[in-house]
Amino acid sequence: MTTRDFGNFINGDWADALSGETFESRNPADLTEVLGTFAKSGAADVDRAVQAAKDAYPSWLGTPVPQRADYVLRVALLLEERKEDLSETMTREMGKTLKEARADVQEGIDFAHYMAGEGRRFFGDTIPAELSNKFYMTVRHPIGVAGLITPWNFPIAIPLWKIAPAIVSGCTSVFKPAEDTPLCAALLVDMFREVGLPPGVLNLVNGMGDEAGAALVDHPGVNAISFTGSLEVGRMISEKCARSMKRCSLELGSKNALIVMPDAQMDLAVESAAWGAFATSGQRCTATSRLIVHDRVRAEFTERLVDRVSGMKVGNGLDPEVELAPVINEQQKKRVLEYIGVGRQEGAKVLIGGEEPQGEEYANGHFLTPTVFDEMTPEMRIAREEIFGPVTGIMNVESVEEAIAVANSVDYGLSCSIYTHDITNTFKAVQQLEFGVIYVNAPTIGAEIQVPFGGMKNTGNGHREAGPQSLDEFTEWKTIGIDFSGKLQRAQMSEP
Ligand code: NAD
Repeated sequence: MTTRDFGNFINGDWADALSGETFESRNPADLTEVLGTFAKSGAADVDRAVQAAKDAYPSWLGTPVPQRADYVLRVALLLEERKEDLSETMTREMGKTLKEARADVQEGIDFAHYMAGEGRRFFGDTIPAELSNKFYMTVRHPIGVAGLITPWNFPIAIPLWKIAPAIVSGCTSVFKPAEDTPLCAALLVDMFREVGLPPGVLNLVNGMGDEAGAALVDHPGVNAISFTGSLEVGRMISEKCARSMKRCSLELGSKNALIVMPDAQMDLAVESAAWGAFATSGQRCTATSRLIVHDRVRAEFTERLVDRVSGMKVGNGLDPEVELAPVINEQQKKRVLEYIGVGRQEGAKVLIGGEEPQGEEYANGHFLTPTVFDEMTPEMRIAREEIFGPVTGIMNVESVEEAIAVANSVDYGLSCSIYTHDITNTFKAVQQLEFGVIYVNAPTIGAEIQVPFGGMKNTGNGHREAGPQSLDEFTEWKTIGIDFSGKLQRAQMSEP
């Protein structure tokens, strides 16, 4: 495969980092394959990009919303045309299986179509006034220059979850993608250039988090930060934004759970657990990392899950037989192996996996076997901390109340599933689970773009992405009162 090299995209042009420094992107399934070199940006590059975004803002604010949205629609159409090529690039750059890479691009396409439609809505309200001959309405107003910082696990969908609503809302943006997926980011941004998005509306600055990312968060010209990533970095960004009074929306990690009740359809629960835990090698923010199973069906569930997982082929995501593709990088592989060691020390029992696969075909990549722990208990670190790899653990409970309490016992709250056909247990769970996304008889992973997505507790700070709520991240509400009475009317004081 030929390498594709990209600089930063600032004010409508591709340009090298001012320092001239670059970094490489390599295939996690085959580290000998270099996908390209990219600008390693610093504060000066970020400053140029923010300046371009600031300069572009007044005219973008004045551009009719349907026109803004039309650029998003045209990118959706280009993505459709290039889906196969882009999906293959994604598998090479980030590792996930080709089927999942296609789904990532498809999610981007779906959301771009959805947001393009929002350009013809972008509704506000009209509200009756308490005074006569007075009229109220609300309109959305863009927040200004937005900094968009994204992780590597959904290299097309997550950037579009931010870029598309920012564009429709009238914000101008500086996008800092994850350093593990700069090629996907550059290809996506280049499509916006191709469809003629005016210079400065979307700028891309590639580079490291603690350099380019930190400079973007610190820049006084940025009005809002939209961040998806780890709790650790999210907390730091939140503190900085609080000091500088920047709007900040955070989508962070989680410790998702799947509850299996005695009346669950067992084959469905097992297949969903395997899919939820090991798709994208467990590197989804919604990955099923806890299996909370009722004592009465635990033996059967455990045996069937281990049987299912033992049949998973580990390997390069381009191989259609492969279910478990590599993890993203060496650091992540070490982290996962460390957590497996911690779990063993804490007294959990490895039922399957727990090591690196052996063989020539695994020599050049970051491969791990799928790991299932048994006898995981709520106080263990492996039951509380996000591992973000192909590891899950079974926990024993004796009632739905206990299942809900165990599910809620972590500091995160993104996604939780319950497998049951009992209406009482279903509604108890729906009412009491402290998660932003709850599924009944469906896996913890697989968000759809037309519904709001986000988590409770440490998973975020109350914002939601996807769905109509996406626009809230990038707009302020303006309330407009028009008095056509021709006289001074004093609210709460005028004569009737
Ligand atoms: P990360 O926090 O390491 O990095 C995310 C982004 O932040 C990257 O672009 C990185 O370069 C940047 N960054 C790092 N340090 C920074 C700093 N000091 N200042 C500004 N930016 C900085 O996360 P990751 O490893 O890329 O992604 C995995 C994490 O993302 C997991 O915790 C996962 O749960 C989370 N995630 C959450 C969601 C969600 O919607 N809730 C979705 C996907 C991933």
